[in-house]
Amino acid sequence: MKRSELVAPCGIHCAICPLYLAGENSLLLEALVEKGIPREKLPCQGCRALEGHCPVLETPCDTYGCITSRGHDFCYQCQEYPCKRLNPASHRAEVLPHNTKVFNLSVIEHQGMEAFLKRSQEVQARYYKGKMVVGRGPALEGEEKE
Ligand code: SF4
Ligand code: SF4
Repeated sequence: MKRSELVAPCGIHCAICPLYLAGENSLLLEALVEKGIPREKLPCQGCRALEGHCPVLETPCDTYGCITSRGHDFCYQCQEYPCKRLNPASHRAEVLPHNTKVFNLSVIEHQGMEAFLKRSQEVQARYYKGKMVVGRGPALEGEEKE
């Protein structure tokens, strides 16, 4: 599978999702099962391979269905981009990466897929672990005083 095939059409990078990473980490897999993810759905193969049947959803992903029905590869190719499906939300923002979708899509659109694949882990680290410095963005450890 090409590395870019693990980038979902909404901008989520499945290659750094815990459900995908559970394929190489049995402790993580057990922890996810304990959290209620059905064992038979692990490890996840990624959004594109599953055609939007993301294991954290009870029904096929509405966003995936929308993008494919419009014939797009990524949401940024859509006339309605960014629509309400991509709207940032504070609800569950500390555990789910939904607020990174539009940022990720911007990197893919403006800097290209290779640049995104190089940056995405750092983007996720800044999102979950960065300390917000107003006006400068989320700083990683050691960067706060730069
Ligand atoms: S499809 Fe969903 S659960 Fe599977 S790797 Fe992608 S984001 Fe994670
Ligand atoms: S309407 Fe456009 S931007 Fe919104 S989910 Fe569908 S394809 Fe993506």
